[in-house]
Amino acid sequence: MAQKHIDNKEEIIDYLGKIENSSEYLLSLINEVLDMSRIESGKMTLSEHPENIRNIISSVTNIIQVDIQEKKHKLNVNIEGLTNESVICDKLRIKQILVNILSNSIKYTPDGGTITHIMRQVKCDKEGYGRYEIIVKDTGIGMSEEFVKHIFEQFSRSDDSITRETQGTGLGMSIVGKLISIMGGDIKINSKLNEGTEIIVTLELKIATDNEIKIFKEKNAPISNSEEIKGLKVLLVEDNELNREIAIDILTEEGVVVADVAENGVIALGKVKTSKPGDFDLILMDIQMPIMDGYEATRQIRLLNEIGKNIPIIAMTANAFDEDIK
Ligand code: MN
Repeated sequence: MAQKHIDNKEEIIDYLGKIENSSEYLLSLINEVLDMSRIESGKMTLSEHPENIRNIISSVTNIIQVDIQEKKHKLNVNIEGLTNESVICDKLRIKQILVNILSNSIKYTPDGGTITHIMRQVKCDKEGYGRYEIIVKDTGIGMSEEFVKHIFEQFSRSDDSITRETQGTGLGMSIVGKLISIMGGDIKINSKLNEGTEIIVTLELKIATDNEIKIFKEKNAPISNSEEIKGLKVLLVEDNELNREIAIDILTEEGVVVADVAENGVIALGKVKTSKPGDFDLILMDIQMPIMDGYEATRQIRLLNEIGKNIPIIAMTANAFDEDIK
């Protein structure tokens, strides 16, 4: 449609907005399908670090703010009896669980409703651990007893007019249930049709020691700011033309000079071989490429010559799971 109305600026802006929305939806769909398949194949691992649980809650509140305002809901957030704020946990996965639950509450509560989000620390019998109850309560359409029984099954969506009009994959709660069980936690659902839903997530998390927090902070201190990369000369190695185009645009925008590009590892190797000192400050290296991939290219560049031995090489890849990063 955008192509058809290429001369009408207003329509183009409208279509671009719709393309962006649809892309975001498609991305969440892909991510959920990927999560599900990783969980099913037993490859889902938690990435646990010392985190502040109060910050997790407030960052979740920030994420959902736009949707809350859009539906004119009232949001109450309460943190009660919190004596241990620093815990060892997978921050991203806890956020994913809470955003999922809260998004459902927002979606399935008619405009102008009330969403209550409570976190409280309760008594824990396990030494060195904290027990946290996270409650999400809404004044929404609720669920039938029959539906609650199946909520953690894949592709289960309540079949009614509101659900049919709302976007969703039917995987969200299934992933939530599985993640909580990987964390050794528990989830309870109390719901009544046309009255609302209350979901209680209980997690027992190891309390982080001061030393653990200190070590983590030292390891993860920010290493640069955007001023420091201005004027850097980069060799961009990437086989996908569109990705190259996007990378060049983003890098140039940040003041980085894309000194040269290479479409695969062999070409990159040649460019480093014929380069003079100072031609490149660093290499951005794609991993998956035809002819020679990024791993092999990096290995060979390191053995090539003095320039290759010392030049920083940064992997640039969609293989961004924890195992890949390691
Ligand atoms: Mn590639």
